[in-house]
Amino acid sequence: AIRLSIDGVASHFPILNRPLPNGKRTIFLDSGASAQKPKVVIDKEREVQEEYYANAFRGRYYFGQRIDDAIESTRQATANLVGAGRPDEIVFTAGTTMSINMVASAYGDKNVRPGDEIVITELEHHANFVPWQALAKRRGAKLRILPITNDGLLSNEAIESTINEKTAIVAVTSMSNVLGTLPPIEKITHLAHQCGAVVLVDAAQSIPHQRIDVVKSEIDFLTFSGHKLYGPTGVGVLYGRYDLLTEMDPFMYGGHMISQVGREESNWALPPAKFEAGTMPIVQIVSLGAAIEFVNAVGLDVIGKHEHSLLQLAHQRLTEIDGLTIYGPQPDNKGSIVSFSIQGVSSEDLAIRLDEAGIFTRHGHHCAMVLHERLGVPATTRASIGMYNTTEDIDELARTVKSAVKQLRV
Ligand code: PMP
Repeated sequence: AIRLSIDGVASHFPILNRPLPNGKRTIFLDSGASAQKPKVVIDKEREVQEEYYANAFRGRYYFGQRIDDAIESTRQATANLVGAGRPDEIVFTAGTTMSINMVASAYGDKNVRPGDEIVITELEHHANFVPWQALAKRRGAKLRILPITNDGLLSNEAIESTINEKTAIVAVTSMSNVLGTLPPIEKITHLAHQCGAVVLVDAAQSIPHQRIDVVKSEIDFLTFSGHKLYGPTGVGVLYGRYDLLTEMDPFMYGGHMISQVGREESNWALPPAKFEAGTMPIVQIVSLGAAIEFVNAVGLDVIGKHEHSLLQLAHQRLTEIDGLTIYGPQPDNKGSIVSFSIQGVSSEDLAIRLDEAGIFTRHGHHCAMVLHERLGVPATTRASIGMYNTTEDIDELARTVKSAVKQLRV
C-alpha cells in the first residue's frame, strides 16, 4: 500500500494552494461541515467520466463491467474501513441524513411499537434527532433525550437511567459536531443489547478522525457521509448488520431493488441491492473509494494524532483570550473541534473578521439547536480541524481572534 506523509499533506489539496481573491492564503477550519478534496479524488471523478462511465449493474459491456467492479471495490474498502464482516452490509446512500432516515423508516416503522422508547442524546445533529422525533410520533413511542453534563459528556448514570427494557432504538453520535464529545459507544451498545434494543451510531464527524470497528463495538447501524471524509458530495454509507438489513422493509421502491416484479406482487433483492433503488451516485461512489485509499495512505492513526496536537494548541491559545469560553470537554477527551463564544462579541461579526483574514470557520447553531439551548448560547464559533491543518493555521486563528476581539468588543 502507498504511504503518504502528513507533513505537507495540504499540497495534495488543489483548493488550499490557490491564493484567495484578496491575496490571502486559505486557512480552512470548517472541515466538520465538509472537507476539501485531494487531487486523487477530483482526478478519479474525471477518470470515471472520461474513461469508463456507464450505469451500474445493468450493462454487460466493457464500461458496465468496469463500473460495477469499481463500485464493488469501494464497497469492500468501506467494509474494511468500518470493520464490517462482509461487503453486502454496506449500503450506498446519498449521505448521513438519508442513511438515518432509512433506518428510522425501514427498521423503525416495522419494529417500534406504541409505548416503546427511542433514546437519543442532547448532542445530536438535527439529522440524528428529527427522524427519531418523527418516528416516535408516527409509532406512538416516547422520545427520550439523554442529558449531557456541564462538561458536555454523557455520564454513566444518565446512560444507565435512560436505556431500559422499553428502549427499542438508541441513536447516538460517535463525535459531536459542536463539542467534539466522544460518547462511550461500547458502554451504550452493551447496555442497549442487554435491553433488547438496537443501536445506530452517527459517525458523520468521527469517521475522518478515528478508527471505528462495528464488530468490536457491536454497532448495529452506522452512518456517515463521503464529503466529510475528503470524498465527494452526494454519496453516503449505511452499514447495517446483515440480519437486520434482511429483516427490514425497503425504504425506496424502484429499479435494481427487486428480484421479481409481477402485476400484483413483487419481492425484493437481497441487501444491499434492496436498499439501492434507482440509478446510484456512480461517479461519487467510485471517487469515495479514492478518498478512502487516500486516508488509508496517510493513516487514520497518524491523522488523529496530528489533529489532536493542533486541538491542544487551539485550546491553549484561545483560552488566553479574555472573555472567551470554549464549550465541551477538555482536549484530551474529545475530537478535533473547538466551539467557543466571546463575551461582548457577536459570532457573526467575528466570522466576518476571520473571513477577511482567509480563516474559514462556521458560526451559528451548527444544526444542533437543542444542544445550544442546553449550553445557554444561541450561537457559537466553530473551528473544526482536518488532516491538512497546521500549527501556523492555529496560530493565525488565535492571533486573528485576539485582534478582532479588541476591535469588536462592545
Ligand atoms: N450528523 C452529524 C454529526 C453531522 O455533523 C452531519 C453534517 N453536519 C450530519 C449528521 C449530516 O450529514 P449530511 O448533511 O452529509 O447528511
